[in-house]
Amino acid sequence: MPDDGLLPAVAELRLTDHHCHGVLRRDLDRPAFEAMLTEADYAGGPGVTMFGSQLGLALRRWCPPLLGLAAHASPDEYLAARTTLGWEEVSRRFLRAAGLDALYVDTGFEPEPLTGPPELAGPPELAGLAGLAGGRAREIVRLEQVAEAVGARRRDEVAAAGEFAAAFRAELAVRTRHAAGVKSVAAYRVGLDLAPDRPTETEVAVAAAHWLDTPAGVPGRLADPVLHRFFIWCAADLGLPIQFHVGYGDRDVDLHRCNPLLLTGLLRAIEPAGVPVLLLHNYPFHREAGYLAQVFPQVYVDAGLATHNLGRGSAALIAETLELTPFGKFLFSSDGFGLPELHYLGALLFRRGLSAFLRAGLDDGSWTPDDAAQIARQAGYENARRVYRERAG
Ligand SMILES: [Zn+2]
Repeated sequence: MPDDGLLPAVAELRLTDHHCHGVLRRDLDRPAFEAMLTEADYAGGPGVTMFGSQLGLALRRWCPPLLGLAAHASPDEYLAARTTLGWEEVSRRFLRAAGLDALYVDTGFEPEPLTGPPELAGPPELAGLAGLAGGRAREIVRLEQVAEAVGARRRDEVAAAGEFAAAFRAELAVRTRHAAGVKSVAAYRVGLDLAPDRPTETEVAVAAAHWLDTPAGVPGRLADPVLHRFFIWCAADLGLPIQFHVGYGDRDVDLHRCNPLLLTGLLRAIEPAGVPVLLLHNYPFHREAGYLAQVFPQVYVDAGLATHNLGRGSAALIAETLELTPFGKFLFSSDGFGLPELHYLGALLFRRGLSAFLRAGLDDGSWTPDDAAQIARQAGYENARRVYRERAG
């Protein structure tokens, strides 16, 4: 990492990025690039540029040197260098520089094809796209995408015969055979205020029929609390770690319905299943998430997505997340999506924030260097390996 100020125990970490996405397979002009720097569905406007944000300034501070430019290069200089090098070389530089040992790749949201796990991983010496990041990569399967695939393929049969539940279970078992875990985007579709109990077969059949039985013959947007709960329980039955989108995301979410405390009943009900539950992003509810990580043995949290979006403010975010979160419950994720700069900034700002947090405690004698090194390893990769290792890759 290009920062000598980091604690050595943090600088040396090879991180496990337990939630990220692939990168775009094309070069970008400035409007397209700026559109990737925001969760909004517009980029800037009169007098507003996405480079004029914490993320934009962090990008100009840290990314230009990897393209051979001075720190703080102008956006136009930066984008010109990016285009000259080409997206593939740019991706390789940033993903390698992120210092990742492993990437868990959410393959569920791809408005256009992104690089997949095989391209992100693989031995670094492989040519082409393989090994862009130089780490291991595993897939995280999105539950709703499995359902939508089942619904699109067999909508007549499953709606008529009430066989959706069985078809979904079978498809999920196949899709997750080599996956690290699954992810629920219930937060985006219906919010997190989900009833705790496992829905009955009849409830699932009625909900599925309602979803699949559309006049156009094409299933509509899947947004039914019964079905989202059903998917979560099916994943628990398979013993899979379950990631939840929580808090901050694009404007498709109703943020007031994405407070993780709304999951409390479900977390209580699902605890006996013994599967890890990973609360992703969490901002601005990261303190609430930390509380849940403390009181529920199976709950883990990260601060992905917000880490790079808050730029230099992410040090405070990480310190606040760690107010209550036990150190054995905090994981690194970048939530990098589309731009490899986001994977890199997520990793870099995570290291800076964690290093500042640990150094503050060392400076006032709150913990020892050995304690700090252990916390760094736990957050950097040990917790992720422990949580996900039940599933052999
Ligand atoms: Zn994501």
